Amino acid sequence: MSQPRLRFAPSPNGLLHLGHALSALLTWDAAQKLGGTAYLRIEDIDRERCKPEFTAAIFEDLAWLGLSWPEPVLVQSERFELYAEAANRLRDMDLLYPCFCTRTEIAEKAIGTDPDGAPLYAGTCRHLSNAERIEKLERGDKVQFRLDSQAAMARTGLLTFTLVGPSILDRPQIRYARPERWGDVVLQRKDTPTSYHLSVVVDDAAQGITHVTRGKDLEAATDIHVLLQMLLATSTVCYHFHRLVLDNAGEKLSKSRKSPSLRDLRAEGWTPDDVRRAVGFH
Ligand code: GLU
Repeated sequence: MSQPRLRFAPSPNGLLHLGHALSALLTWDAAQKLGGTAYLRIEDIDRERCKPEFTAAIFEDLAWLGLSWPEPVLVQSERFELYAEAANRLRDMDLLYPCFCTRTEIAEKAIGTDPDGAPLYAGTCRHLSNAERIEKLERGDKVQFRLDSQAAMARTGLLTFTLVGPSILDRPQIRYARPERWGDVVLQRKDTPTSYHLSVVVDDAAQGITHVTRGKDLEAATDIHVLLQMLLATSTVCYHFHRLVLDNAGEKLSKSRKSPSLRDLRAEGWTPDDVRRAVGFH
């Protein structure tokens, strides 16, 4: 069996908080229990929101927590060509189509909500003729590319993935993936030639990741990742979803909720052990 390889993949669009600390600590602990290696990956495809100072802070905060990782670290913003290549493979299979809808149009025509509670895309632009597509492109309308999910699922058939938990050492279970819950997801955004889903799948394969450990908030996204793995013929991975750190109001920590960063806590005198205790990690 191949050597277990895990990854912690933060986005440098803010400072790390206790939720990130739990995720990182659990990933390193799981790697140790499995006799494998934990990698760090910087997920900075969003050129607007991601900042080099936040990347530098990730390195420093994780080292402060006592974690180390193999170098060089994979940085997604250096890999746009590879994501475009993967998108082109899907395009060659006739599985990608251009979408010109604005946020308002998407919300107005939504056919429900996706597992994240966002408006479920009605597939409006799937039906555009070639002439209409060319006209919009020539006019300079902003374009994003979506996966034709029905055509994609017709190719792959029923999809399953392997889940382990609550402990990383538990016996694996087989689960069905349900990509239909997400509709035609965006794989190349208007502002960046890739998306979270596409880059994650390309990079998990490139890094030979065997176990994905991440928070329960990202569990539903696995549907799309498993579908993309099958379409791009990459190996599948074993998934492990961990609990989240919640604030006093029972909400997930986030920058928008003004959750204290590890930096803030450190400035208040917290030690790495205090962080471990606070996230229930012993
Ligand atoms: N970059 C994602 C985040 O910071 C996590 C990616 C993943 O674990 O698949 O939320």
